[in-house]
Amino acid sequence: MQLKTILNRVQKFKSFVYKSVRWVGNEAAPELEVEVAERANGKPVCSGCGHHRPGYDRLAKRRFEFVPLWGIKVFLVYAPRRVECPSCGIRVEQMPWAMGKRPLTRAYGWFLASWARRLSWKGFFVDSCEA
Ligand SMILES: [Zn+2]
Repeated sequence: MQLKTILNRVQKFKSFVYKSVRWVGNEAAPELEVEVAERANGKPVCSGCGHHRPGYDRLAKRRFEFVPLWGIKVFLVYAPRRVECPSCGIRVEQMPWAMGKRPLTRAYGWFLASWARRLSWKGFFVDSCEA
């Protein structure tokens, strides 16, 4: 089974697909990078108002940390598009996995929050994950 199959099972996005998966990092600290791409003909969604808007340009690739797999760090890699929105101006598109500007996916945020609760550090992570 491929990592992409697992990801599509646990975290499937309507407007984005998982592309290639590759090893990065080094022997001591291996990491997996999963390339994410928008679906063909998918118009970006404005992060300000949540409406589909025409694309403006594309920013540099960013890494979003996902839930680690067997202790291996996993990152989603995506170059966000910007939209030209008549009500919000030029804005970064909405990415369903992203938590605001943080380099962390929602899935990993919730994962950390659930562990924080289990370890009874209540309130420590919870605030940062509800953005
Ligand atoms: Zn907007």
